[in-house]
Amino acid sequence: MNNKIIFEKIIQKKTSKNIIYQDKQVTAFYDIKPQALVHFLVIPNIYISSLNEITKKNKDIVGYMMYIAIKIAKQLKISDSGYRIVVNCNKNAGQEIKYLHIHVLGGEKLNNIN
Ligand code: IMP
Repeated sequence: MNNKIIFEKIIQKKTSKNIIYQDKQVTAFYDIKPQALVHFLVIPNIYISSLNEITKKNKDIVGYMMYIAIKIAKQLKISDSGYRIVVNCNKNAGQEIKYLHIHVLGGEKLNNIN
C-alpha cells in the first residue's frame, strides 16, 4: 500500500484528531512522532508526491504552504524564539511519506543539522 494514503485520510478527517488548520488548499497537523517540542506538518490538499513534482503550473502551492506554516508558527508562539522548516525530498533526504509536506520544528533549541 502506498503510504500517501495516510496523509489523504488526514485531509479527509478520517484519522488524525491533530489537525491544526485546514482550508481549500492546505492542511496542517501535528506530527505523530514529534522531533521537537512543537512539530507540525503542512501538506497540499491536492496530491503532490515530492518537491520534484513542482512545476510552473503548481508552484504557487509551495509559497502558500510556507505562508500557512509561518502563520501557524506565529499563532503557536514559536516564531520569536525561532523555528526550522524542513522539506525532505526522496530517499537520500529520508522522505518516508510520498506526499509533499513541510516540517515545522520549534518550541525549543534545535540541534544543528548538516
Ligand atoms: P518524512 O520523513 O519527511 O517523509 O516525514 C514524514 C513524517 O510524517 C514523519 O515525521 C512522521 O512521524 C509523520 N507521520 C507519519 N504518519 C503520520 C500520521 O498519521 N500523523 C501525523 N504524522 C505522521
